[in-house]
Amino acid sequence: MKRVKTVIVGAGLSGIYAGYLLTKKGDDDFIILEARDRIGGRIETFNNSFDLGPTWFWPEMQPALSRLIDTLDLETFDQYDTGNMLFEIDPHIPPRRTNGYHSSPQSKRFIGGVSQLVSTLANQITPDKILLNSLANSIAIDDCQIIVSCESTNNQQHSLISAEQVLLALPPRLVIDTLKFSPALPQELSNQWHQTGTWMASHAKYVAIYDQPFWRESGLSGSAQSRIGPMVEIHDASMPEEKAALFGFIGLDAKTRKTLGKDQLTDLCRDQLVRLFGDDAKQIKADFLKDWSQEALTATPADLNPSHAHSPAPSFMVHQGDWKDRLLGIGSEWSNQFPGYLAGSIDAVEKSLIRSSTDQKRKAPDAG
Ligand SMILES: Cc1cc2nc3c(=O)[nH]c(=O)nc-3n(C[C@H](O)[C@H](O)[C@H](O)COP(=O)(O)OP(=O)(O)OC[C@H]3O[C@@H](n4cnc5c(N)ncnc54)[C@H](O)[C@@H]3O)c2cc1C
Repeated sequence: MKRVKTVIVGAGLSGIYAGYLLTKKGDDDFIILEARDRIGGRIETFNNSFDLGPTWFWPEMQPALSRLIDTLDLETFDQYDTGNMLFEIDPHIPPRRTNGYHSSPQSKRFIGGVSQLVSTLANQITPDKILLNSLANSIAIDDCQIIVSCESTNNQQHSLISAEQVLLALPPRLVIDTLKFSPALPQELSNQWHQTGTWMASHAKYVAIYDQPFWRESGLSGSAQSRIGPMVEIHDASMPEEKAALFGFIGLDAKTRKTLGKDQLTDLCRDQLVRLFGDDAKQIKADFLKDWSQEALTATPADLNPSHAHSPAPSFMVHQGDWKDRLLGIGSEWSNQFPGYLAGSIDAVEKSLIRSSTDQKRKAPDAG
């Protein structure tokens, strides 16, 4: 059986940031288990440019994330919003053109997409510490040690890892739905975690790539809002001075999307772009539809109903019983400041690691 001090479950931004901070502290006695065949979790960028998950951060509101981006020397740019925006209200009336608006505070994007953030952090972690295709399925206390049982998604082989603490770097609701705890977690905490919605898990995004940002030439920002759909909110998704694109959030609920199917929904999105931006919008070089509600490693059945508000952060630690001080929630939804956001991952990880080192210092005199 492999033995480490810390097992981190999940290699999204939270898990990778925790691994990065531990590495920086000189503590390399950890392992990150990731069930997917890639790191990033809800962060996914295709063609090294176009974000299918998160797109924006807001440096004026999110100083810790902003400092991290500076430290990593990542290049960022302002969301393009110069020009008019379009409104579609009635299928029988052409879209209305109105003054656009500048986001305030300024929303920023990453050159190369949000994946740049997570891959740059991961590059500073020893590669063999990140185990891809490794699904954690149970966590038990046995004779004072924690045993994490994990299954390879390649060959279904099981392995056991013994640890002193486990950092849960995944959404709280997914923890309850997919991991078995022995002994069971306190019921109240388990309910709280299950009631915490996973931000954007019910959503789907469509991206269309073009040779040129042709809408800009006619004074359009690329932003649009629609009551007809299927996209309800559309934005320019181009990279500066290269690859042009538009992206939109689909307004149909997860069940309707599933019934329609990917091909039909993609056709409807293509038609909508032509309706809004004219015949030039037919010249799509490539497009992509990502439905997060169909990703079992993000969404649970409880996430299929869209949630328009961020759930308040639940308790990130167990206050009583066998699990006390051994299990810490570090996924973005555990952040009090920015629950569900990229900045929430940074906040949740820092809060938990500070707590964890305080606990260790408290225990040290007894150990001696
Ligand atoms: C469409 C969309 C748009 C968004 N837009 C924005 C935005 O513009 N700005 C913003 O700030 N935020 C946005 N977000 C939210 C942002 O993506 C998340 O807050 C952030 O990525 C959460 O990171 P995380 O590591 O906490 O969780 P996740 O990214 O969910 O990572 C959890 C990881 O755990 C893995 N995992 C799950 N179960 C297991 C298991 N049993 N064993 C091993 N591994 C497991 C998963 O595969 C995943 O890699 C958006 C999200 C989506 C989906």
